[in-house]
Amino acid sequence: MTSTNDRINQLVRPEIRALQAYHVPDPGKLIKLDAMENPYPWPEVLLDDWLAELRPVSLNRYPDPQATVLKQALHTLLRVPDRAAVILGNGSDELIQMIIQVVAAPGRVIMAPEPTFVMYRQIAVVCGLEFAGIPLRKDFSLDTETMLAAIEARQPAVVFLAYPNNPTGNLFDRGAVEAIIAAAPGLVVVDEAYAPFTDHSFMPALETNANLLLLRTLSKAGFAGLRLGLLAGPADWLDEIGKTRLPYNISTLNQVTGAFALRHYEVFAAQTDSLRSDRDSLLAQLQALPELTVFPSQANFILLRTPAGTADAVFAALRQRGVLIKNLNGSVPALADCLRVTVGTPQENAAFLDALQDSLH
Ligand code: PMP
Repeated sequence: MTSTNDRINQLVRPEIRALQAYHVPDPGKLIKLDAMENPYPWPEVLLDDWLAELRPVSLNRYPDPQATVLKQALHTLLRVPDRAAVILGNGSDELIQMIIQVVAAPGRVIMAPEPTFVMYRQIAVVCGLEFAGIPLRKDFSLDTETMLAAIEARQPAVVFLAYPNNPTGNLFDRGAVEAIIAAAPGLVVVDEAYAPFTDHSFMPALETNANLLLLRTLSKAGFAGLRLGLLAGPADWLDEIGKTRLPYNISTLNQVTGAFALRHYEVFAAQTDSLRSDRDSLLAQLQALPELTVFPSQANFILLRTPAGTADAVFAALRQRGVLIKNLNGSVPALADCLRVTVGTPQENAAFLDALQDSLH
């Protein structure tokens, strides 16, 4: 009789057997500064209006397959150029999956500088493609020459550039990104998940680049629980990518809630604006701690390096003191001794700083 293990070994590809599922720790009652969420709940008055809008929704019917109202609202709010087309995803993760699926074929390469957002690699491997991770410099800036040489040598179907990058927080040099777009034989996806926390964007560059796609998400702006991402780019490309989209991927609840939230976007923009200035003060306070190396950030999180060999202990001591951040030590060599903290409310940031000072000693 074939055992379950034998069947799994026979049927599941070795690359998938070797992967770890994306792990999300249970925060319990800890102060949650691990996942780049907006820490502010919706104001009470918005909750009442929102629930009133949900009441007449017909959940016995399928959603609008094109999510027309929500798509149009996002097109306008995010200033997508008129000529660009848009596809919505159940989070931008799903859009990354659609992009990779549409080019998936034996021998194809997906490329990104590393360290970066882990799902580019994970989804490429799951789709049976090769992933080429090109090391960033020691300060996490883009090594343009190495990237251009790798593009020339490997001819990637898609290059992903997170702008700002996760988990490093920095913005790559604009000229370097432009050189990559010009040199790439295939698509370049500029992933602007952290757009609410920086003034820099490649959205206007969609007008002039036929191989550029732009990714956005509402997760970091205050809607992580909603799961809503947007892909903008040339209509011909989006027609093809749209063929990999599962029908009705944006539920009616998401469509109604998303459109409602966008009508009140000024509430959330005020929150992300204050998170930006709180990030800058947290950064300055962290930089004042002589034990740490603190990396500059244009996002709603900060990467720090603890004294060699202490990151696991500092992470555990923070947890003990009630604060959950992200431990990146041991993930890849470039992130040895690194921890990443999401910017929270001023009270949460102060609690984190107190706990950190205790934990470092
Ligand atoms: N891109 C980047 C760079 C990210 O950091 C993240 C989330 N951590 C995502 C995409 C995915 O976001 P979501 O699926 O919530 O839209």
